[in-house]
Amino acid sequence: MRWQNQTLDAEDGALPGLSRAGLVRTVRTPEFEGITFHEVLCKSALNRVPEGANVPFQWTVNPMRGCSHACRYCFARGTHEYLDLDAGRDFDSQIVVKTNVAAVLRKELGRRSWRHEPVALGTNTDPYQRAEGRYRLMPGIIRALTESGTPFSILTKGTLLRRDLPLLTSAAGEVRVRLAVSIAILDQDLHRSLEPGTPSPRARLDLVRALADAGFAVDVLVAPVIPCLTDGRAHLDAIFGAIADAGADSAVAFPMHLRGSTRGWFLSWLAEHHPALLRRYRQLYRRGAYVTPEYSAWLRARVAPLLAEHGLMARTRAEPETRRRTTHTTGSQLALFA
Ligand code: SF4
Repeated sequence: MRWQNQTLDAEDGALPGLSRAGLVRTVRTPEFEGITFHEVLCKSALNRVPEGANVPFQWTVNPMRGCSHACRYCFARGTHEYLDLDAGRDFDSQIVVKTNVAAVLRKELGRRSWRHEPVALGTNTDPYQRAEGRYRLMPGIIRALTESGTPFSILTKGTLLRRDLPLLTSAAGEVRVRLAVSIAILDQDLHRSLEPGTPSPRARLDLVRALADAGFAVDVLVAPVIPCLTDGRAHLDAIFGAIADAGADSAVAFPMHLRGSTRGWFLSWLAEHHPALLRRYRQLYRRGAYVTPEYSAWLRARVAPLLAEHGLMARTRAEPETRRRTTHTTGSQLALFA
């Protein structure tokens, strides 16, 4: 039985941050070695995007906190500190699961005041990370959104999304559904080192193909572009070529930013694996979380012709009536959060 051999820890002694988050129990299981699940009951599921955020959606849903995909550059890391967990290994291995999120969401979407504005998933942590295989929260979320007539988008690195493809295809007949896949790195060694918990780049390209074959117009985020490691013309040309071959509709690319705790976590990796680049990074990120405007402009100039060459320019294609699309988001805007 699926739930056998798991260890339950009593709530006693739980971190105060987790108690505040509604901790019910803590679970470890041999199927997910090295990962601890903290099951919580959330009070609300819909999060309003802060005023002034430059994104085309007002609401997000985040079924989990922390992400076992463990991307070294993930900018959601700092959110774990609100739970009194650390932004490094704890973020990768202490996963907070909102087990009642679908039921709470359904209730919120049923309010007379709900205006059916677009809802984005995958803007903070990945809803199709490994834990979703155990908890199966997404089918309930997708049904709640669809049945309430709410358009939605999903951004993921998780090939587990394939499990829900029939449900998503059916949802797209009722509401606008936009699907985006994140693929930042083609090189196997770099992928294993920098995003060790994610499916391989090949598996994600196959996911793009499966979504495109199912009739979705798929956006791909080539993000973040990691200065001096993935910004070479050959790498970008190869990754855009592979994405186009997989049937994606559009792609966007933008440079890595290093905010808050993510900065130290990433730079400690850089110091270990590419110490010679530290000086260059100090220059590039001398203004803080973002690369210099000069680097951004240089990258834009490098990326634009490649996107055009591979037919991946966002919003430059005719929009066939039959394609399932939303108009509410572009990859670059989504990526402000992912
Ligand atoms: S970047 Fe996305 S997939 Fe990677 S750890 Fe963060 S939330 Fe998970």
